[in-house]
Amino acid sequence: MRAAVLSDVHSNLPALEAVLAGVEEAAPDELWCLGDVVGYGADPDACTALIRERCEVCLVGNHDLAVLGALDISAFSETAKAAVEWTREQASAATLEYLGGLQPAMVHADIALYHASPRDPIWEYVLSIEQAEAGFDAQEQRIGLIGHSHVSLFFNRPEGARRGYSHGAQAGDGAVVDLANGAWLLNPGSVGQPRDGDPRAAWLELDTEALTASYHRVSYDIEAAAASIRAAGLPEPLAERLQSGR
Ligand code: ZN
Repeated sequence: MRAAVLSDVHSNLPALEAVLAGVEEAAPDELWCLGDVVGYGADPDACTALIRERCEVCLVGNHDLAVLGALDISAFSETAKAAVEWTREQASAATLEYLGGLQPAMVHADIALYHASPRDPIWEYVLSIEQAEAGFDAQEQRIGLIGHSHVSLFFNRPEGARRGYSHGAQAGDGAVVDLANGAWLLNPGSVGQPRDGDPRAAWLELDTEALTASYHRVSYDIEAAAASIRAAGLPEPLAERLQSGR
């Protein structure tokens, strides 16, 4: 099967619409979302409705849980907290009901899906080899998908390799990774708030038969997303960071 993997939409409607147009061209069998549908951006209800309509499976992320009041947000930055509070006031009952029915991890089509990491699907960032090694130790499936860091990347532990022999790299637009050998953790990057220096919206195409992961970036109307954030009265840095992709 071919799956389009989206993560960290963060209420950015122009970015989500651009990604969905790119996904439509690729015509995958299914769409999977790794969570953080809301938080940061200005369109929580429209984004949640699109995800609900288009995705076969969706996880809940730490920002979604924060909006639901199901997570202690004392560790959140001031801007993230402000966005959580704004989203709580704005989100419709239908949005909260949908997010409230989701889990932060699942196995689907023999692929492990986590919002954050295999050992901590809600909070842990997987950005270093050490974090990836711990993830491989905790992951039963050969291929795992992670979001949360907003960085498009992959980690691989070669077949039969001991702990300490994994490697990884960031994956830019057009990168294709051959998944035939060993265990994998793949992060598609973020739809709505990329932090890897490329401000374009990110998504990943996973082919579970050809065993390939193809990384995609899509240009979108960043100015429109930033204008919505400003019009909503959300903190200015949330608008500015979309331009730099940091
Ligand atoms: Zn996120």
